[in-house]
Amino acid sequence: MNVGENIHPVFDRMLGREAKEARLGQRGLAIWLYGLSGSGKSTIAIALERRLAAEGFFTQILDGDNIRSGLNRNLGFSDEDRTENIRRIAEVAKLFVRAGVVTLTSFITPRRDLRDLARGIIGPADFCEVYVSASFATCAQRDPKGLYAKAAGGGVPQFTGQDSAFEEPESADLVIPTERLSVDEAVGLLHRQVIDRIRTV
Ligand code: ADP
Repeated sequence: MNVGENIHPVFDRMLGREAKEARLGQRGLAIWLYGLSGSGKSTIAIALERRLAAEGFFTQILDGDNIRSGLNRNLGFSDEDRTENIRRIAEVAKLFVRAGVVTLTSFITPRRDLRDLARGIIGPADFCEVYVSASFATCAQRDPKGLYAKAAGGGVPQFTGQDSAFEEPESADLVIPTERLSVDEAVGLLHRQVIDRIRTV
């Protein structure tokens, strides 16, 4: 949808991003964690946020179930709704990033076109694409939310990896192999990847 003729954005008159980043003493970045349900996105996002907070960074997590129970509660899991889900989340992440906030997102984002959509909305310079990797079998064994057991009995329509495809990435900034790493190691790997992009000194 295009900006309508009666809509007049006022971005040029607002306080700029640089002023906000200077105030916070950091640079905004969207850390886009994606992967199957149960791969470890939320666990890693929560642990990284705590570590960054302890180091003095200002952060915000956008998490799948939280967003789907609020902002996106009218959306389901059809291809069209998954696209709209990611479009809205990326627009929200962009607002946070441009306010200087280190923004961690935790969404399955199963298709490459969805990852490209998010990168396009947020902008490549502010986007860090992180594939949180674990096989369907491992995720099913972990099953932190009981979804895999439910899906096996047909209780979760369009379940990703079963009825709905998950496309492996061709180009991620970082792949975190959570089957081979502890949570601490996974967080350490991600921290090393992002720290130079968010600190100013
Ligand atoms: P998601 O947010 O991707 O749906 P969760 O973070 O809710 O997944 O669940 C991941 C599960 O896998 C948790 O129970 C977590 O303790 C476990 N786990 C095991 N190893 C790792 C790892 N290296 N990184 C993240 N989670 C891990």
